[in-house]
Amino acid sequence: TDAREILTWETFGLAGRELAHQIAADGYRPDLIVSVARGGVFVAGLLAYALDCKNMHMVNVEFYTGVGTTLEMPVMLAPVPDVVDFSNKRVLIADDVADSGKTLKLIHDFCRDTVAEVRSAVIYQKPSSSVRCEYVWRHTDQWINFPWSDQPPVVDRAGQVRDA
Ligand code: 5GP
Repeated sequence: TDAREILTWETFGLAGRELAHQIAADGYRPDLIVSVARGGVFVAGLLAYALDCKNMHMVNVEFYTGVGTTLEMPVMLAPVPDVVDFSNKRVLIADDVADSGKTLKLIHDFCRDTVAEVRSAVIYQKPSSSVRCEYVWRHTDQWINFPWSDQPPVVDRAGQVRDA
């Protein structure tokens, strides 16, 4: 299918705020927000302000290499955060979308044994996801255009600046 879900910067702002309300109304008060780079950092930053949580972590995961094309499995790129930081913490994992759910599962499994509690928040969850996130703004089965990645980089593959 060619249909796409388009998220604008403005709607992203509203989505993040609504997601924070869901989390707060549910009584979850994370000590630590773990963002999944790169798309998840936008969501995590917004949630961190809205939930008044100053403790943020970032993990780098590489999985998608293009629209609908992936590596075989998501891989956590170095440096992997020190597990000691997570001990006895209520953790919130923040990402832009749970598609196959493999990325979130990887991080969830990574945290699970060392933290007090771990829950996940995403803007979008697809029906294909193997992981059911506790907090979801919208459900869709379409490819999503996010405002932070809907334009090509300002440099090309060789590092040359593209025409504006
Ligand atoms: P998963 O591991 O759940 O299959 O994929 C998670 C990651 O893949 C997301 O954090 C995102 O970076 C990328 N991704 C998955 N589906 C989409 C999509 O529909 N649109 C965009 N732009 N990225 C996606």
